[in-house]
Parts: sequence; structure tokens; C-alpha cells
Amino acid sequence: MKEITLSPELTKEIAAIYQAMQEGYEQVSEEVGLTCEGCPDNCCDSYFLHHTYSEWAYLWQGLHQLDPEELERIVSRAKEYIAQSAEALAEGRRPQIMCPLNDNGLCGLYHHRLLVCRMHGIPATLTRPDGQSMRFPGCFRCQKIVKEKYKVETDAPAMDRSRLFRQLAALESRLFEEQRHLYPRVKKTIAEMIVAGPPSVPLPHCER
Ligand code: SF4
Ligand code: SF4
Repeated sequence: MKEITLSPELTKEIAAIYQAMQEGYEQVSEEVGLTCEGCPDNCCDSYFLHHTYSEWAYLWQGLHQLDPEELERIVSRAKEYIAQSAEALAEGRRPQIMCPLNDNGLCGLYHHRLLVCRMHGIPATLTRPDGQSMRFPGCFRCQKIVKEKYKVETDAPAMDRSRLFRQLAALESRLFEEQRHLYPRVKKTIAEMIVAGPPSVPLPHCER
């Protein structure tokens, strides 16, 4: 197996994508008037699967910076998360378990949190590669605000995810020197990314 790591250049790029995402989020949340302060919910117990080696590698850049005891605690919570989510899924339920990186309600790896963590909450739009447009209404609290404040839902500002998603997809391709299709797909929770360790892929077959 070959470990997948981000070069300094790709590290800078993914950080820039995340930063742009954060700025886009802040702009829309401010316009809508959404803050997470005092929210009875904590979105870190939402069940999400993640799909890029780039984000997985960047997450591990953050995990590598933790002291070994802290990392051990997180790995142990991640194992517990995997066991509990497998139980829920086997019973046909969507797991609702606190992320192993959440520490007393706050993200313990804030600068390395994943794309989904940075977008959840506000209204958003996305144009898929097949041209189909999608609109996401935001979290329950955001939907309530939008209902009270705007005549129709689509009057509310929304963050367009398309450009940043395309940039992340392009970065993922470059990580594999445009050979991404030759490697297995990623479909993992954060807990699974933690327990699996830094991303790695089978070595390409030797050419004769
Ligand atoms: S995104 Fe919405 S539901 Fe989640 S914590 Fe913030 S306000 Fe609450
Ligand atoms: S990585 Fe951080 S922000 Fe994302 S779900 Fe986990 S604790 Fe929450």
C-alpha cells in the first residue's frame, strides 16, 4: 500500500478552498441572520459520509499534530462510534452519534474539519456535473428564519457550492496525477477515517 499525502502546494490549495467556503458561509449566514449560538441542536451528531482522499489526508495532517494521549482518546471514541453506527444501520436507522472529534460541544480539530462540517446550516445551491440544479434549505433553524423573513424560500440568499466542489474535485484529480479513476472510491465517516489511519491505496501494478 502507498500512503496518500498532500504536497505543500496541495495543502495550501485545500486550505484556500476551505477558507473560501468559510467566507461564503459567513456571508450567507449573516445575510439570513443565522447563528449557531444557543441552538438546542449540535450538528456534529449528523451522519455523513465523505468521499475524497484529499480531505482524509488533510484531516490526518491535523490528527498528527495532537499529542499521543489525545489521539488515543479520539481513536477510542471513533471505534465506539463505528460500533454504534453499525448497530443503528443494521436496524435500518440513520445513526445519530456525536462525532469523535467533538469535545464538549466544540470541534476538537476545527481547522481540519471537513467540507460538510463547513457548509451545514445555510441555504445552498449546487449545479451537478450533469447540469441538474439543486437547492438545499439549510438546517431546521435556518428554515424557520427563512420562512419568517422571506416571501418565498428562493428569495433567501444561498451559497453556491458548485465552484468550490469543482475545485476540490480538480485537486483530488491532481493528487492522483489525473489517474484518480484507477483507485478505490472513498465512502467513509470521519470515525472510519480516524480508525483506518492516514489514507493509503494499493500500489499500481508494475508494467512489464
Ligand atoms: S447549523 Fe443550524 S442546527 Fe446546526 S448548530 Fe447551527 S443553528 Fe443549530
Ligand atoms: S469534524 Fe468537527 S465540526 Fe465536523 S462533525 Fe466532527 S466535531 Fe463537528
